Amino acid sequence: MENKVAIQALRSLLAQPGKMAIITHFNPDGDAMGSSLGLAHVLRAIGHHVTVVLPNTPPTFLHWMPGYADCLAHDRLPHACKQAILECDTLFALDFNRPGRVNALEATLLKAKHTVLIDHHRDPDGFAALTFSDTSACATCQMVFDILEQLGLQEHIGPDAATCLYSGIMTDSGSFRFGSTTPRTLEVAAALMHKGAVPERICSAILDSNTENRLRLLGFALHQRMQVMTEERTCVFALSKEDLEQYAFQPGDTEGLVNYGLSISNIRLAAFFMGAASEVKVSLRSKGQLPVDKFLHTHFSGGGHRNAAGGRFQGALADAIAHFHEMLPGFLAQYPA
Ligand code: 5GP
Ligand code: MN
Repeated sequence: MENKVAIQALRSLLAQPGKMAIITHFNPDGDAMGSSLGLAHVLRAIGHHVTVVLPNTPPTFLHWMPGYADCLAHDRLPHACKQAILECDTLFALDFNRPGRVNALEATLLKAKHTVLIDHHRDPDGFAALTFSDTSACATCQMVFDILEQLGLQEHIGPDAATCLYSGIMTDSGSFRFGSTTPRTLEVAAALMHKGAVPERICSAILDSNTENRLRLLGFALHQRMQVMTEERTCVFALSKEDLEQYAFQPGDTEGLVNYGLSISNIRLAAFFMGAASEVKVSLRSKGQLPVDKFLHTHFSGGGHRNAAGGRFQGALADAIAHFHEMLPGFLAQYPA
């Protein structure tokens, strides 16, 4: 659908005060939380009733975000989450491209009356009645800002909404470092500062929230669990369930670890394998044209963006890594540097 037509359709949806719900992906990150809460603040400011539904509780370093206390998380309140989705007039689906990304809430999501998807991942599934997809946007938060602006609602972005939207842009752009950072990104960040976002406070709340265990786990991973494959220009981290237990692992503790691989000069692919009870979680990051989302879609039931993607493997950690090494040469050969 032409963007102008989609904006017009959204404008009509928002014309009367309604019952809205917002849902984002499992294991919500800064952009997932920032876009959901940022949009929630603005919708509430123009008179809607809004419930934010989370497929699971986000890591503690995101709990400070304005509005977090009012979210419903499926791991704590499964019934209330389902009810909010089924009873709303409009469901906003933010920062994910396939219904399966909400895990246990997938079947409920597909039963919602009217869904509006706003997302920046590649190849969105056609599950929503209205889809806003912009793979050039560094963050869903940037898209939410753009859409609010096109709707003429930017004056309703107060300090809380601005803080949430800035947080997602900052985290998904790697603090304005990744290739996805454009002049528009910085313009939106500046506009959000004018509306009350305070970068120093936001950076500190998100980045200076380490526990001692988390830093020691990082040190252990860098020292003992990193394999550098110079010829393949690839760096692999692997942490077993036992490794994680040794450092009293909390969700979010390994966030950003994989990026250290890419900081080694000449490395263009970094992988991180994390063992859990039933499956192995895989995170890949790349530089340049190497499409890690395609690799994970084909080999690890995953997806995401060209340079940052995630997936999973049913089985043992060692088997997941072996599978990676088996598939890697064919992938790299397709994309010579
Ligand atoms: P991470 O490696 O930090 O978990 O995720 C990197 C990017 O890939 C994020 O944008 C995330 O939304 C996406 N992603 C992570 N896991 C999956 C997955 O299992 N499937 C899909 N389609 N995307 C994922
Ligand atoms: Mn995102």
